Amino acid sequence: MERNWTPPLTRTNFRKIQPCTSPIEISLCSSPHALSLSLASTLHRSCKTSLSRFKTLIPFSLSTMAAANQPPGSAPGAPAAPAGNAATAAGREAFRQSVVNTLERRLFYIPSFKIYRGVAGLYDYGPPGCAVKSNVLAFWRQHFVLEEGMLEVDCPCVTPEVVLKASGHVDKFTDLMVKDEKTGTCYRADHLLKDFCKEKLEKEPNLAPEKVAELNHDIATLDDMSAEQLGAKIKEYGITAPETKNQLSDPYPFNLMFQTSIGPTGLSTGYMRPETAQGIFVNFKDLYYYNGNKLPFAAAQIGQAFRNEISPRQGLLRVREFTLAEIEHFVDPEDKSHPKFSDVADLKFLMFPREEQLTSKSSMTLRLGDAVANGTINNETLGYFIGRVYLFLTRLGIEKDRLRFRQHLPNEMAHYAADCWDAEIECSYGWIECVGIADRSAYDLKAHTEKSGVALVAAEKFAEPREVEKLVITPSKKDLGLAFKGNQKMVLEALEAMSEAEALEMKSKLESNGEAEFQVCTLNKTVTITNKMVSINKEKKEHQRVFTPSVIEPSFGIGRIIYCLYEHCFYTRAGKTEDEQLNVFGFPTLVAPIKCTVFPLVKNEQFDTVARDISKELTLSGISHIIDVTGTSIGKEVCTD
Ligand code: AMP
Repeated sequence: MERNWTPPLTRTNFRKIQPCTSPIEISLCSSPHALSLSLASTLHRSCKTSLSRFKTLIPFSLSTMAAANQPPGSAPGAPAAPAGNAATAAGREAFRQSVVNTLERRLFYIPSFKIYRGVAGLYDYGPPGCAVKSNVLAFWRQHFVLEEGMLEVDCPCVTPEVVLKASGHVDKFTDLMVKDEKTGTCYRADHLLKDFCKEKLEKEPNLAPEKVAELNHDIATLDDMSAEQLGAKIKEYGITAPETKNQLSDPYPFNLMFQTSIGPTGLSTGYMRPETAQGIFVNFKDLYYYNGNKLPFAAAQIGQAFRNEISPRQGLLRVREFTLAEIEHFVDPEDKSHPKFSDVADLKFLMFPREEQLTSKSSMTLRLGDAVANGTINNETLGYFIGRVYLFLTRLGIEKDRLRFRQHLPNEMAHYAADCWDAEIECSYGWIECVGIADRSAYDLKAHTEKSGVALVAAEKFAEPREVEKLVITPSKKDLGLAFKGNQKMVLEALEAMSEAEALEMKSKLESNGEAEFQVCTLNKTVTITNKMVSINKEKKEHQRVFTPSVIEPSFGIGRIIYCLYEHCFYTRAGKTEDEQLNVFGFPTLVAPIKCTVFPLVKNEQFDTVARDISKELTLSGISHIIDVTGTSIGKEVCTD
């Protein structure tokens, strides 16, 4: 691979935009896409004064850049086609190559374990990539955790089996896989069928209308197909292994989780978490208490997720380990209004509701407030988060007209979900799901309540007790403690989590025998409960309403967002000579890996000292920068620009 390193453009193409009047001139020099700090030729004032002036001069919209020589063969001087406008697949491919070459050459990311020929779907972030990622995550924390008062947690990646059994991942987190019958190479069955249908539609313009409809129908219903249906389609179309053209096996489910064992015995199965959300759900009870037993509240977590993708592709977009940033907003299912909805109600942006997709229409610009009012978006809280995600992504630098919110079709949604929308960003690979925003109803908390025996519920206290007939379970902590000592808490929680039917059965046994056998899942054993340990009575007055909260979950794939951002910030422009073309990332200041460059305009040792002092001040202020006192005299160029 070509390793052609060109110095950052900030040194060769900056111009003064702020006339410097002070004797020591520290000026903010910027092209529309470049931000540099230069030292002018006279020294009279302390750097601190000038530095504070510099800080006030950094506008939000200024951006910084990284540049490298254009790979050979590309047209010099021609602007790189933005992915969205690239008319042809070849155009998109060429654009992507320019972006990816620049990213790899400048170490934004590196294929992991490269000297050992790498591992598909695993990537390292290099120095500028780490800086961009840390800036994106810092803004995420500010925009969501701080501004929304969320409770942040940080849970382990290694997760015991019971948790992922309860969530459904052990049984259902699978993709259908086929194998090349001779080489054993694995493929995702739905991807093969989709690629086949798309290629046929693209390459055979004269297909009969019925065939076109059939292929389109196959693409639309891929998610619904069983292993048998997919296998039948693969056979019907004669699809073979892409590289060898060998026969393929029948499709079968492959679980995407990386399995491991916890501890040395090998007896305790664990998995690398496929999402961070479960860590939040299992902590619900403590977080609710921490929040003063009040709803709504949101918890957030940033961390690594692991998915053993069958055939990772599309670079950073489908990988086997990636950073997720997830929010679980817990809300009363009977009141999904949001107190701050009016803050986002007037936002207008591209939405692609279910109706438009089913009738082959395009996405359209809608006012968020209207989409919620007319029921297109299920509720205010879901709408509020869609608005906040829109603001987050566009403030990062994602182009507004290449961002849309697409509603899930009924066949894409889990049966329990109330409504789901994906923030999709257009890049050279097409429209890519980068953030999923789902109203998951009470599914997750109910699943963990059932499996753990711990009631993950909230309560609404009534101002006045209400007249209703209800079964009340009152465990006696003292008697349970005497009988079960260290296990008292688990028995107590299991008693409280009994369903009405279980409680009535226990009540009748206690009344007839004075005791009842009781299975405690969390202890994995049966214990004997006596009359003294619990009272189960029908009460006429209810003081509170106990319910399982609904969860609204925005889930951000940080790597995908960053890759799309790279494409949206990328452009090319002419270099110093006519046949030189420079590839540039014009990042918003917020995400720019380097905020500015410090260098003297002319070679003079005195200036070097001042440049170093300025650099120190910038470091103390947390402003990432480059200092260059190598002595290239560029004063004339600046003054005449
Ligand atoms: P999901 O839990 O499948 O809805 O995924 C949540 C988010 O994670 C998606 O919106 C993507 O942005 C991201 N994501 C999912 N799978 C991958 C992957 N294999 N590689 C990179 N990002 C992913």
